[in-house]
Amino acid sequence: MKTNTILNLKISEIGKDGDGIAKVNENFCVYIPFALPGDKVSAEITESYKTYAKAKILKFFEFSPSRVKTKCQFVELCGGCQIQQMKYSEQLNLKKKIVETCLQTFGVKIEETLPSENIFRYRNKSLIPVSKDVNKNIIAGIYKKDSHEIISCPDCKIGIKENEKIIKTVISHLEQYNIEPYDENTCTGILRHILIRKGFFTNEVMISLIVNAEKLPYENELVKKLTENNGNIKTVCITPNLQNTNVINGKEFRTIYGEGFITDYIGKIKYKISPLSFFQINPKQTVKLYEKVLEFAALTGKETVFDLYCGVGTISLFLAQKAKKVYGVEIIPQAIENAKENAEINRISNAEFLCGNAGEIFNRLVENQKVKADVVVVDPPRKGCEEELLKTVLKLKPKKFVYVSCNPVSLARDLKFLTENGFVLEKVQPADMFPHTVHVETVCLLTFCF
Ligand code: SAH
Repeated sequence: MKTNTILNLKISEIGKDGDGIAKVNENFCVYIPFALPGDKVSAEITESYKTYAKAKILKFFEFSPSRVKTKCQFVELCGGCQIQQMKYSEQLNLKKKIVETCLQTFGVKIEETLPSENIFRYRNKSLIPVSKDVNKNIIAGIYKKDSHEIISCPDCKIGIKENEKIIKTVISHLEQYNIEPYDENTCTGILRHILIRKGFFTNEVMISLIVNAEKLPYENELVKKLTENNGNIKTVCITPNLQNTNVINGKEFRTIYGEGFITDYIGKIKYKISPLSFFQINPKQTVKLYEKVLEFAALTGKETVFDLYCGVGTISLFLAQKAKKVYGVEIIPQAIENAKENAEINRISNAEFLCGNAGEIFNRLVENQKVKADVVVVDPPRKGCEEELLKTVLKLKPKKFVYVSCNPVSLARDLKFLTENGFVLEKVQPADMFPHTVHVETVCLLTFCF
């Protein structure tokens, strides 16, 4: 099919990337971003391949019953929210279906997707790029999909309300003192990104300005403007990043106001969050997810537990409240430092954190040190677990294995290996951590029968 061809199409399905799918015939489909099952549209082919094409909507003839008005006017340009145009209940169904499709060979019931309490303003962290538009006005907002072009959008609807005022204050400071935003083509200019984080349970706000210099001119004046009549802003930091790369954050920060960190909670556990540390993005939903992990682990207080790929130890510390001993393993040294610090802040002494490759360390503990564990929890990155780790699970034969996954495709592969080797997949619970996106988190319980 030629590009630029215009077709009238009825959308019958939705794919796992959130594109609507129209079948032209048995062997040819058209993928259309932002189209939903039930929409009838006129669409123009933008890319064409042997068995499928991509198209963009020109006009609607009929709207899908699942369609709602989006809150954000930039959804199509941004690409961050692939399904904001879909009713929330339908989004939850879609996520369940995505998991169901990946795990259908296991013949196990997939629970209804756990909904997020907030479906807008749920992100506690925003990284806002700053630039100049064609008229040389300073703007801040979002990247246009698949590009480095910045669109002025100071109030992303999944970010916090406080962002807009902070961004406007920073822009007016740049204008007042003729401070240039960073230009990645020439590597000149100063302000690159504004990082804003909020503790959802404490209301504390942190601002970090990522700059292509050691200092931002007139820092103290900016602090005064930001904190005037805004008691929630607890700290302001400067994070130099003089590298000409896509890496956004710098390696060290300097505190120009407050203590250089804010605090927040997940359940009863308190966390210290610095401009550089990792913290769960949707903390309210994280509690629900971890409660599921805890429910599946069914701890009584006597168990030894592994939390592999533990990051800053959020799951480990959550489980430590109900276990005898928890071992957390993570590859990033900084994250392990944070995990140890978080354990200390909360006076948790039954969690031990080890830095290194999860598969290797786990195997060493089980093989050489003969550590026995009753429950193993994993929360791996998108590529899933390493084979060495899964083989060690088979050797250890824990009574319970809880798998937290952000990618149902790698999850299906790992579950296949485990179920072919004696484990039984008992429960599958999808959870929505990121409303309006097609991301889905899944918690699975496997048991080992002797
Ligand atoms: N539950 C964690 C987040 C897990 S995200 C938290 O709340 O902090 C997955 C983690 O796996 C990341 O922190 C990543 O650094 C780590 N990781 C990736 N590959 C790893 C490996 N081979 N061994 C150990 N950790 C790894």
